[in-house]
Amino acid sequence: MSILVVGGAGYIGSHMVKRLADQNEEVIVADNLSTGHRAAVDTRAKFYEGDIRDHAFLKQVFDQESIDTVVHFAAFSIVPESMEKPLKYFDNNTAGMVALLEEMRDHNVKRIIFSSTAATYGVPEKSPIEESDRQDPINPYGESKLMMEKIIRWADKAYGIKFVALRYFNVAGAWPDGSIGEDHGPETHLTPIILQVALGKRDELSIYGDDYNTPDGTNVRDYVHVVDLADAHILAIKYLKDGNESDVFNLGSSTGFSVKQMVEAAREATGEKIPAKIAPRRPGDPDSLIAASKKARTVLNWNPQYDDVKEVIKTAWKWTQTHPNGYDDRK
Ligand code: UDP
Repeated sequence: MSILVVGGAGYIGSHMVKRLADQNEEVIVADNLSTGHRAAVDTRAKFYEGDIRDHAFLKQVFDQESIDTVVHFAAFSIVPESMEKPLKYFDNNTAGMVALLEEMRDHNVKRIIFSSTAATYGVPEKSPIEESDRQDPINPYGESKLMMEKIIRWADKAYGIKFVALRYFNVAGAWPDGSIGEDHGPETHLTPIILQVALGKRDELSIYGDDYNTPDGTNVRDYVHVVDLADAHILAIKYLKDGNESDVFNLGSSTGFSVKQMVEAAREATGEKIPAKIAPRRPGDPDSLIAASKKARTVLNWNPQYDDVKEVIKTAWKWTQTHPNGYDDRK
């Protein structure tokens, strides 16, 4: 039996595929390459190019392969873009989930692990955020993911499709040898942008707001290494295969870093100056997002290896230095 990784050519998906292949799992990847990269997909995986909203495409994949578990990364994830193009997010993320679940139901596939997000909490009622805290998103990205969580609950009740929803906080870093990493076009995420400045590909970093309700006024986020994140998915697959009930887990380091602290850590990790200026706030950003990740640690036995944000940045720096143009496949 194989594991189907949808969105396996993306940043997190490609790390998951490599991790699974290293464990000798049979991996099938489906990706429409809208934001992913063919070169990011490990050669040990079988690749299908297509879109999860395309029923004929998904049917073909499920008919041809013996899939027992789906890991779903095929979603858009840029908060500011979602504020401008909400329907794009409800279409790909929410409707894409419905199409995927319909095909899983029709092909009797009963397990799915999927990416949810800290953005489903909106402005948190307390910190660190626990899984049972109120979910009230303040951007369409978070809303589209909350809808995915709700939909899957009903699909579980009706069709017995068991799920683990993993609410990611901020994912960063790259495969430690620098062979795969983060490459979005255009790039909007903090760590890769900081490193592009370090490399001299950008003149300076714009820090989006220094008047937030945080110790230094800049947004505080909880950064997790992408390989640790992939490992949590592997544990989640095992959790469902062991017959456990569907559940949700936060994935974070439980430590918050402000934008200014991230810049400082990157200066130390790279030895570069990294000029930064204060710019206006970006729409949709809550003050602070820090995970309580005790549940993943105790229930899934998740034991993240990276606990120093500087080490996380160093892995991303290796990727950035060896791949100054990312996968270099922009059309
Ligand atoms: N950020 C910033 N400058 C940038 C990119 C991001 O100040 O060029 C800030 C952003 O406002 C947020 C944090 O960095 O507070 C993390 O943003 P990112 O887009 O990486 O992840 P998000 O939290 O939106 O998922």
